[in-house]
Amino acid sequence: MSEPFDFADLAAPGVRALQPYQPGKPLEELEREYGITDAVKLASNENPLGPSPRAVEAALRAAAGCARYPDGNGFALRRALADHHGLAPERITLGNGSNDVLELIARAFLTQEKEALFSEHAFAVYPLVTRAIGARERVVPARDFGHDLEAMAAAVGARTRVVFVANPNNPTGTAVDGASLRRFLEALPEHVIAVVDEAYLEYASDLWQGEDDFPDASQWLDELPNLVVTRTFSKLHALAGLRVGYALSHPQVADLLGRVRQPFNTNSVAQAAAIEALRDQAHQQRSIEANRAGMRQLEAALDRLGLARIPSHGNFIAFHCGEASSAASYEALLRQGVIVRPVDGYGLPGYLRVTVGSEVENSRFISAMKSVIEKRGES
Ligand SMILES: *Cc1c(COP(=O)(O)O)cnc(C)c1O
Repeated sequence: MSEPFDFADLAAPGVRALQPYQPGKPLEELEREYGITDAVKLASNENPLGPSPRAVEAALRAAAGCARYPDGNGFALRRALADHHGLAPERITLGNGSNDVLELIARAFLTQEKEALFSEHAFAVYPLVTRAIGARERVVPARDFGHDLEAMAAAVGARTRVVFVANPNNPTGTAVDGASLRRFLEALPEHVIAVVDEAYLEYASDLWQGEDDFPDASQWLDELPNLVVTRTFSKLHALAGLRVGYALSHPQVADLLGRVRQPFNTNSVAQAAAIEALRDQAHQQRSIEANRAGMRQLEAALDRLGLARIPSHGNFIAFHCGEASSAASYEALLRQGVIVRPVDGYGLPGYLRVTVGSEVENSRFISAMKSVIEKRGES
């Protein structure tokens, strides 16, 4: 043990190749590092309205009982979700955030011989969970920043075991229409598990301007047995800090996911809060309306500033920083107390992603970005 020793040599090959997920910079960290006291964080697609007060109350009540282990089967929450979706509880797998569920899918279905297929610029967790298993990954070039479903269908092969489609996708905000998604899913061979990640479904349904309604893939579960739909309480429901998400699937798929799931992966506080968040439809509606208004505010401002943006169906926008590098713009925004998200790691050099915040937070971002651009002109 006295020799210089590299623990990476001991790690599983997939783990050695991993780059840790880069979360948005926490507010406290910026305030500590830059001595700023009124920073705004628009970096993690959090809901600026905060959670439903009913959910908070339920969480506080549940916190008092935290000496007990949670219900490992999440009976009450799964029951509430089953009612909400009109599906049997046996089709629901709870996760510690939907990221957890995505990892369960990888662990249950991928091996080193099998391949996960997803799009360029797709959500970072897909390559992460794939690599951690040491499975192969097939990245299909994007079209107009979004999923090229035809190219993805053509890329499916004998080794493909899991396909991930985020609709809408993060960080691009791009979305696919129902007819195209349905066609793609129907054409997949039987040996492929198709994951449709609907983390932003409610926002997308509101912002969508296609002729047909925005697709809710959960409605196709009866006809498409290989389909897994993932949802989260982190975005619309504003419970990101409690970590609750879930998958809807064929009961047998749910059974397999349950085998790799840790029995207490969803904690009691989160379960209690999620049930109330689901019930508080008025709060959901307010969140959707606030997002629409904030999205219009940011879109108009970015257009005024002459910054190209990718049309988004979520609660965030990826925009191009213009002449300066995204790293320089990110830093300049930080110095003004505004945290956004660099997306170079997503193959989007020159872009940053800003979350739709409250009107005041959006204005802070807009004036900070304006001054970043003006200072550029002076130097
Ligand atoms: C935020 C997000 C999730 C959900 O993450 P949680 O683990 O539920 O907080 C899933 N998919 C995408 C595309 C996301 O952006």
